Amino acid sequence: KYSTTAAIEEPIKPPVSVDHTQLLINGKFVDAASGKTFPTLDPRTGEVIAHVAEGDAEDVNLAVSAARKAFDEGPWPRLTAYERSRIMFRFADLVEKHNDEIAALETWDNGKPYEQSAKIEVPMFARLFRYYAGWADKIHGLTVPADGPYHVQTLHEPIGVAGQIIPWNFPLLMYAWKVGPALACGNTVVLKTAEQTPLSALFVSKLFHEAGLPAGVLNVVSGYGPTAGSALASHMDVDKVAFTGSTETGKIVLELAAKSNLKVVTLELGGKSPFIVCEDADVDKAVELAHFALFFNQGQCCCAGSRTFVHERVYDEFVEKAKARAVQRVVGDPFKNGIEQGPQVDSDQFEKILKYIRAGVDCGATLETGGERLGTKGYYIKPTVFSNVKDDMLIAKEEIFGPVQTILKYKDLDDVIRRANASQYGLAAGVFTQNIDTANTLTRALRVGTVWVNCFDTFDAAIPFGGYKMSGQGREKGVYSLKNYLQVKAVVTPLTNPAW
Ligand code: NAD
Repeated sequence: KYSTTAAIEEPIKPPVSVDHTQLLINGKFVDAASGKTFPTLDPRTGEVIAHVAEGDAEDVNLAVSAARKAFDEGPWPRLTAYERSRIMFRFADLVEKHNDEIAALETWDNGKPYEQSAKIEVPMFARLFRYYAGWADKIHGLTVPADGPYHVQTLHEPIGVAGQIIPWNFPLLMYAWKVGPALACGNTVVLKTAEQTPLSALFVSKLFHEAGLPAGVLNVVSGYGPTAGSALASHMDVDKVAFTGSTETGKIVLELAAKSNLKVVTLELGGKSPFIVCEDADVDKAVELAHFALFFNQGQCCCAGSRTFVHERVYDEFVEKAKARAVQRVVGDPFKNGIEQGPQVDSDQFEKILKYIRAGVDCGATLETGGERLGTKGYYIKPTVFSNVKDDMLIAKEEIFGPVQTILKYKDLDDVIRRANASQYGLAAGVFTQNIDTANTLTRALRVGTVWVNCFDTFDAAIPFGGYKMSGQGREKGVYSLKNYLQVKAVVTPLTNPAW
């Protein structure tokens, strides 16, 4: 039934060595000031991959001073935009050259299928940097008509030092969403990676310097949230902070920014996104898309379609087929070909997901399949499907962040709109229908930052992404992301010759 063997046998050895484990400050790899390290673990086994320098407040200070100096005195904001874009294009070329090594590091540290890393995420990472490189020399202000004899123009200037805090579910893509627009706009950066997945960022940042990035422009501090992360969010010399992670931590980051220097904050937080299967849906196709919407990336997506609302007319058929699809899902060593699902990222996430599964059973939802760990080693969880889920159950309200599909029944459009919107979150939604009027009604009624109609998780570099309500503030990707990294300066000059 399951591809259990790979999870139980000895894991395949990743085809890559770990060359960079120190902090990257001012263009150099250095130990943490405290000399401390922390282990980063292989989610397939829980064994140590490498010991990584553990940055804390002192290292963040050093990294921020390097970024500050690079911004205030260094060449980066003073280069022509074309020169900046050329370095970013060269970086993307180097990433492509090292595609397989980077993909192997990402999979080893995170547990996601190697095929996904190598064929989707690393190529998308390079694509994102090319997208932002393309923007660098197209950023400019406006000439503004004023009531009076004035010449008015706006200058779009970089904000300064950007502090960026990223999570572990898409370590490379989160790096690109943040570092790409910051550098294209001429800012300098201190990036705090997630403690679960520090390796790929260090590797690619080395390549960025090979591509010609000046020292101090991009600094990478590995370490924990309450130490390194909060030092960055509360630093007086950081002008902007961008954060992706849980809503709970997002609130802390916003508070730290407010209590320090009112740095500009963008937040990309949690979700409990509805995936709505309408009564006219082709059930087989809807099952496949809803399965992808939830189970992709081991269910560790902020925008996962984690409340599957199915119209009552097709509900029973949908549940039966969704269960069959989950049973067929191929779970195992992510380095093996054909694997759809690897282990969860770490033991905390693994335990948290199992706890939610127990809560689902306890409150009376029907466990259709899965519901337990797979194998005895590592953090594998069997693809799990619950039916007869009610809106007030914990599994329908909170972010599980794992391979657990919850299927709810609805009556009509008004019913599903009301219930889909009855959430503190508003990140994304999926709509599956063949009826254009139904699609138009739902896309307008849903209070979310992205609606995917008859598709899901389409993440083009140009498509903006971000949340309504407690799913965040601001938008990443696309032209909207540039706004996060620019100040607008109005320049007003009197016109002395009224004739002209
Ligand atoms: P988290 O929000 O605690 O961590 C995300 C990042 O924030 C990490 O780099 C972390 O080190 C840092 N951080 C933690 N505490 C901080 C603090 N006090 N100040 C500054 N930075 C801090 O998320 P987590 O603990 O890794 O996961 C918990 C839950 O968050 C998950 O189960 C999931 O529900 C959610 N999550 C959401 C996303 C997303 O993409 N929106 C990503 C990861 C996790």
